Amino acid sequence: MQILDGKSCAGQIRAEIAAQVRQLLAEGLRAPHLVAVLVGDDGASETYVANKVRDCDEVGFNSTVTRLGADASEAKLLALIAELNADDAVDGFIVQLPLPGHVDEHQITLAIDPAKDVDGFGPSNVGLMCLGKPAFLPATPNGVMELLARHDIETEGRHCVVLGRSNIVGTPMSILLSRNSRPGNCTVTIAHSRTRGLAKLCASADVLITAIGKPHFVTADMVKEGAVVVDVGTTRLADSSRPSGFRLVGDVDFAQVAPKCSWISPVPGGVGPMTRASLLQNTLKAYRNRTRQDDV
Ligand code: NAP
Repeated sequence: MQILDGKSCAGQIRAEIAAQVRQLLAEGLRAPHLVAVLVGDDGASETYVANKVRDCDEVGFNSTVTRLGADASEAKLLALIAELNADDAVDGFIVQLPLPGHVDEHQITLAIDPAKDVDGFGPSNVGLMCLGKPAFLPATPNGVMELLARHDIETEGRHCVVLGRSNIVGTPMSILLSRNSRPGNCTVTIAHSRTRGLAKLCASADVLITAIGKPHFVTADMVKEGAVVVDVGTTRLADSSRPSGFRLVGDVDFAQVAPKCSWISPVPGGVGPMTRASLLQNTLKAYRNRTRQDDV
């Protein structure tokens, strides 16, 4: 069994991006600029945004966090998005999800200029992704693709089961892995809460991607000997022995499942850091597109 080491791959990606930013600055150009919009005071969202700011600092990007109160109206958020769309000093921005219940996430996603939609959640980028055209790919599925690529995992012709069908993880993951690309060229089955015979289906997978948010859901009997397992799930479980008061747990019962796998990603240290690295890659790409430099 070998580890799909997201922490180390993400570190490599950040180092590559930092070298490109140093080159831009040496040429007298400005640094890329990412804005994160944070609505309300959700603890996990605060952490995610703080991490994104730290990543920007590390690679030399400018970053700004714009905060709105939990009671901010949808109209106020839409007005902010219009400002960011028009702001020449902003290369890309994200609106951290989830949003408070009174805000329609779909309307927010629709309002973001596709050229600055570095989360890749808007219909324009999703459509381009489905067509296999250049697009901002959603950070988590793209991070998984990079993780597979950088470990030289052969996926062609393999049966891949994607567990979970959300718009931001499971569905785009299934599309990317079924495309004629490397990694890719999988025969993909997408499974969800209504799937019958889930355990048997998962056990037929050469590549199993889990994205459901159910701690330790995937047990050894659900995994084929020699499978590649990528655990996207992250759930915070209360843990008083940790300074944070919680620990992150994946969808896979790692201790039980790992001995059966050829490759497996841990939680933490697997997909999470790759997701963050993908956002940096998309931001640099947005910058280069906007400043009409060659694509990266
Ligand atoms: P989501 O929108 O809640 O979707 C969960 C999916 O899992 C749904 O399609 C749901 O099926 C399916 N599901 C739930 N329970 C199931 C069960 N018992 N059997 C089969 N399918 C089941 O979640 P998400 O946003 O995709 O995120 C999924 C997980 O990934 C979460 O733990 C999240 O925290 C994590 N995540 C991690 C990263 C990272 O960077 N590491 C990034 C994003 C998300 P239905 O559609 O039928 O309801």
